Amino acid sequence: MGKSKTKQTLPLHKIIMVGSGGVGKSALTLQYMYGDFVEEYDPTKADLVLDGQECQIDILDTAGQEEYAAIRDNYYRSGEGFLCVFSVCEQESLEHTQEFRDQILRVLDDETVPFILVGNKVDLAHLRKVSASDAGALAQEWSCQYVETSAKTRQNVDQVYTMLMRQIRDRKMKQQNTNNPDKDSCCVIL
Ligand code: GDP
Ligand code: MG
Repeated sequence: MGKSKTKQTLPLHKIIMVGSGGVGKSALTLQYMYGDFVEEYDPTKADLVLDGQECQIDILDTAGQEEYAAIRDNYYRSGEGFLCVFSVCEQESLEHTQEFRDQILRVLDDETVPFILVGNKVDLAHLRKVSASDAGALAQEWSCQYVETSAKTRQNVDQVYTMLMRQIRDRKMKQQNTNNPDKDSCCVIL
């Protein structure tokens, strides 16, 4: 009982995976959560320690339902940070990231939302179609980070989730800090 009470008070970071079908959104989530490279899994919530502080992560891995705009928009609204995944082996999947980015910004109306562009499947070097510099240029346009991953070898998998959680946490702290002193100063200025 004590444990579940603690859980409720842990900071919760809500991450949403977006990207074309087949780019590896589920494989990355699984590799991060279970340390395995498998195909089937359940929705994912877990406790972890981020920079010495206990917290919870909740990963929503979108998978096709996003074709219904209303459902998709609700997903996006519930997210605090986004991993926008494409496959470095598929140029078209990089092009699609623009659509995901546009949809997210339209729903959230906030360009500063924690967001990382993820080029997955870098283990398939011989099949690579998208260069790091092309993807990096797009990320620069969006003022976000670009990270290359492999859900198969686990390259940068932990890193990309950790980076995003830090962005989410820092942003929440900033928002708290700006909310509280603001309120105070409003009261003080008479
Ligand atoms: P999703 O539709 O974005 O969730 O994509 P999945 O996670 O289902 O992955 C689609 C296919 O790509 C599956 O067969 C995965 O095993 C494979 N896959 C995903 N990530 C990687 C990766 O990093 N490297 C390799 N070699 N295959 C991957
Ligand atoms: Mg999937």
